[in-house]
Amino acid sequence: MAANKSKATPISDIGEFGLIERLTDKIKLRNPSTLKGIGDDAAVLDFKDKEVVVTTDLLTEGIHFNLMYVPLKHLGYKAVVANLSDVVAMNATPRQITVSLAISSKFSVEALEELYEGIYLACDTYGIDLVGGDTTSSLTGLTISITAIGEAEKGSVVYRSGAQKNDLICVSGDLGGAYMGLQLLERENEVFKVNPKLQPKLEGYNYILGRQLKPEARVDMLKIFNNLGVKPNSMIDISDGLSSEVIHICKQSKTGAKIYEGKIPMDNEVKAMGNELNINPIVAALNGGEDYELLFTVSLNDHEKIRNNPDITVIGHIVDASEGTMLVTTGGSEIELTAQGWNPLK
Ligand code: ADP
Ligand code: MG
Repeated sequence: MAANKSKATPISDIGEFGLIERLTDKIKLRNPSTLKGIGDDAAVLDFKDKEVVVTTDLLTEGIHFNLMYVPLKHLGYKAVVANLSDVVAMNATPRQITVSLAISSKFSVEALEELYEGIYLACDTYGIDLVGGDTTSSLTGLTISITAIGEAEKGSVVYRSGAQKNDLICVSGDLGGAYMGLQLLERENEVFKVNPKLQPKLEGYNYILGRQLKPEARVDMLKIFNNLGVKPNSMIDISDGLSSEVIHICKQSKTGAKIYEGKIPMDNEVKAMGNELNINPIVAALNGGEDYELLFTVSLNDHEKIRNNPDITVIGHIVDASEGTMLVTTGGSEIELTAQGWNPLK
C-alpha cells in the first residue's frame, strides 16, 4: 500500500527498531499518571487511589477495514477512538494507549507514518499518551491491536449490569450514520472497480461519511453527566448496533426493555441515504455498527435533569425480564430485538 507521498521506503531499509524509532521519537507525555512511556521493557503508570480500566481491540485488514477507501490516517484515528469509546462506556477517562502492529512488506515506512499521524491526532484530541506497543511482520495485510487504559474515581465506574426496572433508556447523539456512510463508500468502491475514471459521488453526505471515516468517542458525555449531576445505572458503547447493545444491558442486568422506533435519533442524511439505497434507516440504527455513541440507563427520578439536554435522547425504559427486549414500532406493534449486531465473524 503506497502512501500518498512520493517516497516509499521499504521497512527492511531501516529495520524493526529503526521503524519503531521513526514512529515514536516525537512523543511528549501529557498525563501525570504516565511515569514511563516508550523505551523500556514496560510502561510505568501511577493512578494513586483511582480505579483503572483496561480494554483491547484487534483490527484486521479485509475484515474490519478496507484500505481501498479508508485512508491510513483515518484508520489510525478510528482505531484509537474505538478503544477510547470502551473506556468512556465504563464512565472512565482515557489516559494511555499501546499500539501493536503486524505489517506485511507491501507497507512502506511512509505508509506507517501516515497511520501514526492519525494515532497521534487522536492522542492530541483526547489528551492521551502512547506508552508502548509491539511491532512484528505478517505474511499478508495489516493487523492493529490497541489497548486503552483509563481512570475513574473510586465507586464511579458504571457497568452493563446495573440497569433497574423503570430506568429510562437513553442514547447520546444519533445512530445509523456510520453504517450508511459505509454503504455509500462501498457503492462508490464498486463503481470505481468497474471504471476507475469515474469520480465518486459523495456530495451531500458529509455527515455520514464523517461518522464512518472519522468517528469520535463521547468523552464529552462524562462532563455532561457530571454537570447534570447524573450517574447512569448502566452503560455500554454502541459499536455493534443499538439492538445488540440493548440486549447486552438487559442480559447482564437480568431485565427486559422496551424501546420505541419513533424515538431513535437519526440524522436527515441517514434517512436520505436510506431512501437512495433502499435501506430502512431504522435497520442502520439497530443493526449497523461503529456509531460509538453511548447507550445508558438512568433512574426515572433523573428525568427532569436529562430531558432538555440536546446530547441525550430517551428511547425507552427498562421492564421485567419476563417482558422481553422489545422494539415498539411506530404502528404500535412489538417486535423482539435480535442481536444481529455488527459481527464480522458471522
Ligand atoms: P521488546 O523487545 O521488549 O518487545 P520492542 O523493541 O518491541 O521491545 O519495543 C521497544 C519499545 O518500543 C517498547 O517501549 C515498546 O513498547 C515500544 N513499541 C514497540 N512497537 C511499538 C509500536 N508499534 N508503537 C508504539 N510503541 C511501540
Ligand atoms: Mg516487542
